[in-house]
Amino acid sequence: MTYILAIDQGTTSSRAILFDRDMRIRDVAQEEFPQHFPASGHVEHDPADIWNTVLRTSRAVISKAGLGAGDVLAIGITNQRETTLIWDRATGAPIHNAIVWQDRRTAPICEALREAGHEPMVTAKTGLLLDPYFSGTKVRWLLDNVEGARARAEAGELLFGTVDCYLIWKLTGGRVHATDATNAARTLLYDIHKGGWSSTLCDLLDIPADMLPEIRDCAGDFGATEAEIFGEPIPILGVAGDQQAATIGQACFEPGMMKSTYGTGCFALLNTGATPVASQNRLLTTIAYQFGGERCYALEGSIFVAGAVVQWLRDGLKVIASAPESQPLAEAADPSQQVILVPSFTGLGAPYWKPDCRGAIFGLTRNTGPAELARAALESIGFQTRDLLEAMQADWPGGGAQSVLRVDGGMTANDWGMQFLSDIIGAPVDRPEILETTALGAAWLAGMQVGLYPDREAFAGTWSRERRFEPLIAPEVRDARYAAWKRAVQATISA
Ligand code: ADP
Repeated sequence: MTYILAIDQGTTSSRAILFDRDMRIRDVAQEEFPQHFPASGHVEHDPADIWNTVLRTSRAVISKAGLGAGDVLAIGITNQRETTLIWDRATGAPIHNAIVWQDRRTAPICEALREAGHEPMVTAKTGLLLDPYFSGTKVRWLLDNVEGARARAEAGELLFGTVDCYLIWKLTGGRVHATDATNAARTLLYDIHKGGWSSTLCDLLDIPADMLPEIRDCAGDFGATEAEIFGEPIPILGVAGDQQAATIGQACFEPGMMKSTYGTGCFALLNTGATPVASQNRLLTTIAYQFGGERCYALEGSIFVAGAVVQWLRDGLKVIASAPESQPLAEAADPSQQVILVPSFTGLGAPYWKPDCRGAIFGLTRNTGPAELARAALESIGFQTRDLLEAMQADWPGGGAQSVLRVDGGMTANDWGMQFLSDIIGAPVDRPEILETTALGAAWLAGMQVGLYPDREAFAGTWSRERRFEPLIAPEVRDARYAAWKRAVQATISA
């Protein structure tokens, strides 16, 4: 038997997953690592933790399965996006901790650029917004704040990379400094229309272009691992950011296909094919994947609080002991009560973008209890998804967005939540057999290139549904419920 190793380097843990020749999971190894919060709004990872957890889990999963490096045909990498590293070209030593995507320290840089009127140009080129979320202003901050960094960067001594790029550099023993188009598209330095680094954006952010990695296809050649790492060199043949890898793993290859991942937060991507659709509703325009030099675009919307609202029921309200208990509790809710929970604990994401907004509950009565709150919490995921889908429809009218939504992520285990999602969006919700779509996407990119896995069309044919949820409520009930949600959101924003 031969295997593909998927490395999934996430925000709170690193995972290594071995897929067999039938694209089934043979083994998984996972390690959490510390989060550093050095100041309010600052979030950092130690690069050594990122690297060591990847190395240990990758080695562990191979030995756990009783295999050796010779059994692994290729590696695919998927990663937390936007997180920013800078290291020394000669020694590999990072100049600072990685600045994580959640970090808000560059808000003043973004604000200054916005006030100077640069946002329309930045959005036109990158499909993104001037927000601290993306890598570009983090690079700028590091160059301005780490002693000597700017001079070293200008002398060509430093390299920048997102997490994929750093791992490739480490795995290849510093021989390859490359990233893929989906990760490049999150940096604020990449022109999504031209498919390359933008010198205008590098100048605007004062970032020497020499620091930037080469950009390759998602299904590309990223070099081979140093022999001593696993015992033999293994080629790295696939790279995609986590949400894009999930889009690939869900086989959303046709324009109009859409996936939504429900973890702590929720990310929805709509494949718009060769057309980069500019959003009028503050969604992002991004690269879904790049194969054979051809970019496929997507509209992306994110919700900050999805599964996190279930964590709040458990850890904050303590009305459930575990996430799955949210389902029977919601089922027991009094149907005559119309409680609405707007879970903007950390602000509202797309399409509202209200970072300072905080959560609210509407419709409380003397009879409202844990069951009604649990139901309202699960319903808030459906309502927010409908907000994203409406924004996508409005941005791409007549674009052929299909009505079926493919879902994945831990929260999709909740049947009641998935049924409500289907009810409120008024469209089928498809849950696949394989819920590890992110890792599968990365594995497929690599496995397809060595001929172990089927080509794109055949792979799409292997996608199989575990369950479809169809809308069961009457259209007028759906409209009334959604209208009540919209009123609740407006009231929350203006509170
Ligand atoms: P992440 O990758 O962001 O850590 P996961 O995909 O592992 O997220 O999903 C975990 C999230 O899903 C948690 O927020 C948890 O509360 C939620 N979750 C897991 N199982 C259920 C369930 N049966 N019902 C509702 N929520 C669930």
